[in-house]
Amino acid sequence: MPRVKLLRMLDDLPIIKGFRPIWMKANLRQAVIMNLEEYEALRLIDYEKQIHEQAASTMNISRPTFTRIYETARQKLTTALVEGRSLLIEGGNVTIQESHWYCESCFHKFSTAIASEADEMACPKCNSKQLLNLNDCFLSGCRRCRRCR
Ligand SMILES: [Zn+2]
Ligand SMILES: [Zn+2]
Repeated sequence: MPRVKLLRMLDDLPIIKGFRPIWMKANLRQAVIMNLEEYEALRLIDYEKQIHEQAASTMNISRPTFTRIYETARQKLTTALVEGRSLLIEGGNVTIQESHWYCESCFHKFSTAIASEADEMACPKCNSKQLLNLNDCFLSGCRRCRRCR
C-alpha cells in the first residue's frame, strides 16, 4: 500500500528537544525517538484534554490514524521511562506554520513567516545574525548544533 503523505498542522514547536535520564548515562544512540506528530498527539489528548475525534481533526487526519499515532507515542514515552532511555523529539510529516528561530547571542526565541531566509534574518532584540532555525533542529534530527548536542 502506498504511503500517503499527510499534512498535519502544528502551531508551535516543543520547548525542548527531549529528555535525558537521571541515574543513567545518557546514550543518544539508544534514545527513543518520538516524531513531531506523536508529540502533538500526546499534547492534544493528555495535556489539552481533547477527545480523539477533536484531536484527529485538529491534526487533519482520520480518527484511526490518529489513534495509531497516539498509541505509538504512549508506548515510546513508557519505554523511555521504564528502560531509562533518553527521549528525543524529531522528524515527522508535519506542516509547521511558522519559522521558529533561536538567537545564539542573546538566547531570544522568535518566529517569522515560513518564507524568511536565514541569511537575511537578524535577531529583533540584539540584531545578531547568529540564528538557529529550530524547524531544522526538529525536522532533520539535528545532533550537531550547540543546542542539540
Ligand atoms: Zn539576539
Ligand atoms: Zn539543532
